[in-house]
Amino acid sequence: MFDNRCMKCGVRLKSDEIALYRKLIYRGAQSYSCLDCQAKYLNVTREDLEKLIEYYHRSGVCSLFAKWDDEEKKEISHDETNRTGQLSAAV
Ligand SMILES: [Zn+2]
Repeated sequence: MFDNRCMKCGVRLKSDEIALYRKLIYRGAQSYSCLDCQAKYLNVTREDLEKLIEYYHRSGVCSLFAKWDDEEKKEISHDETNRTGQLSAAV
């Protein structure tokens, strides 16, 4: 298990939050921040980041995120897929 904490607010981090931090902010990071602090830093909403995490898991394009199995996939509309795709292209 991970025992990393957010460097800004001290909350315990999930592995997805660490992976997203490395993906979006700094690949070689040794300390990380939680979704809320990353959202503030990137000037997006927490929901945007959650969708981005799901997008990376679903697409399997990023080696930092394990590809989800079929049974774990949730329904997602084309609108949401486009939005997260745009966000990922923007950063
Ligand atoms: Zn935080």
